Amino acid sequence: MRLVLLGPPGAGKGTQAAAVRDLYGVPHISTGDMLRSAIAAGTPVGLKAKVIVDAGNLVPDDIMAEMVRERITAPDARPGYLLDGYPRNVTQATTLEAILLVLGQKLDHVVHLSLDDAEIVKRLSGRRTCASCGTPCHVTAAPPRVAGRCDNCGGTLVQREDDREEIIGRRLEVYRERTAPVVEFYRQLGLLREVDASGPVAEVRQRLEAALGQGAHGTKP
Ligand code: AMP
Repeated sequence: MRLVLLGPPGAGKGTQAAAVRDLYGVPHISTGDMLRSAIAAGTPVGLKAKVIVDAGNLVPDDIMAEMVRERITAPDARPGYLLDGYPRNVTQATTLEAILLVLGQKLDHVVHLSLDDAEIVKRLSGRRTCASCGTPCHVTAAPPRVAGRCDNCGGTLVQREDDREEIIGRRLEVYRERTAPVVEFYRQLGLLREVDASGPVAEVRQRLEAALGQGAHGTKP
């Protein structure tokens, strides 16, 4: 199963991706996570990406194409994968089609998680992530048991640099201008499945599973 998850920042792509990963047993490939790891490790790509990511802008297409090509050809991605955060513009979508053609692969579905702007800002500004294990939480919607501490491992909860309110606006602008046309790109290809991302995580998950043709107890294809 090869899937792409599209949606504005804060639509819950990372959270829902974990559900899809469990459902199909395929790796969750998040280009945002890969970039954050590269930045933390201080790799050449990380050093180049840091300023761009912190400002809410897009990392150059050639860097992203190489990163994704390498990752989807790794052995664990042989049975399939879930791409989250890529493609982010129409050039990347076209590049992905070209990469898949060379690999003899096809996408099965592209899911679009949609959410309105007010809800996006609310979700992003309250989002915190554990600095140790990466588990996400939300200061109002899913507050940690102990303030500032991760429920999973007790690590320190931090706010992503690009989740600060002044950067959220820029990320939404980038989404509208560059990423929204990707939704149309996949609609034209007949691959798109729309999912309303408002409401509690479990409800969105049910809608997502229904959109993928899976009931709550659906069988793995
Ligand atoms: P995300 O975690 O998906 O919200 O991504 C965080 C940031 O990483 C984005 O705001 C971009 O700066 C960068 N990024 C992630 N994926 C891509 C991509 N496909 N193309 C360019 N930049 C990306």
